[in-house]
Amino acid sequence: MHTLVCDEEPSSKDLSESAHKLCEFGCWYYGPQPEKLERLQAYAVIETHHINLHVATAELLRKKISNVVISQEDLDVFFGHIDLFLNTLEQFRREVYTLLYNRDPLTGVFNRRSFDEELNKLQDLVSKDANLACIVILDLDYFKKINDSFGHTKGDEVLRQTAEVVQQKLRNIDKVFRYGGEEFVISLLHTSKAEAYQVAERIRESIASMNIVFEGNSVNVTASFGIAEVASNINAEQAVVLADKALYQAKKNGRNRVEIFEC
Ligand code: GH3
Ligand code: MG
Ligand code: MG
Repeated sequence: MHTLVCDEEPSSKDLSESAHKLCEFGCWYYGPQPEKLERLQAYAVIETHHINLHVATAELLRKKISNVVISQEDLDVFFGHIDLFLNTLEQFRREVYTLLYNRDPLTGVFNRRSFDEELNKLQDLVSKDANLACIVILDLDYFKKINDSFGHTKGDEVLRQTAEVVQQKLRNIDKVFRYGGEEFVISLLHTSKAEAYQVAERIRESIASMNIVFEGNSVNVTASFGIAEVASNINAEQAVVLADKALYQAKKNGRNRVEIFEC
């Protein structure tokens, strides 16, 4: 772009036959990789798209420095290669998350399977150290309407943004899991019910003020929350059931609100 738009000299690396091995991505890709990564489907596909992208780039640069007119078609081909490369990279990211981290491929947060492990950990901690911990369940309000109005892909986008906002509001020791379609669970260690309420309120406000615009329409997204405590007489699994009851209450009481299960 610097060469095309600002008339700067292109770098010799970009014009080289082995440009795809000299760029930052190429240095990583052709460096030593764990076998697990190399076996992923998208890993091999990325190489082809990456090489094609460099070939198309060099082509444009050569035309530019030889004062050959760059046609609209040349540019479209170039941007097409960028799209293909980025899409495969995104697919690769998802595969890596799923493989290595028990992550939900759509949102990048922990998946349901790892939540079961977390429940055991939470239980151990509470029973050993008489510690406090809370479970928060969050469910997006009227999410079906968003899918119905704008399509499933836009719905997915909302889920991704929600997960990001939730993570931003949490400490490093807190964890967020995708529990169901539009439902997330948060485990808060060393946290009382009153503190959990404050955390949930902060997240609720951030979700409600997310700035999402689809097709020129500003989309209002809100979520309801249920909180329950893990305690000596309430194990982690029971706390999930109780938090779900509190969530049901939050829905019943008008949505976009936080309710605590009181024993
Ligand atoms: P409520 O306020 O009572 O929670 O209403 P709601 O519409 O959010 O709840 P409902 O359970 O009726 O609908 C949930 C919707 O979530 C339906 C389903 O199509 C959608 N959904 C579930 N998983 C996904 C997903 O991965 N992506 C998208 N885009 N939508 C999903
Ligand atoms: Mg919902
Ligand atoms: Mg739901």
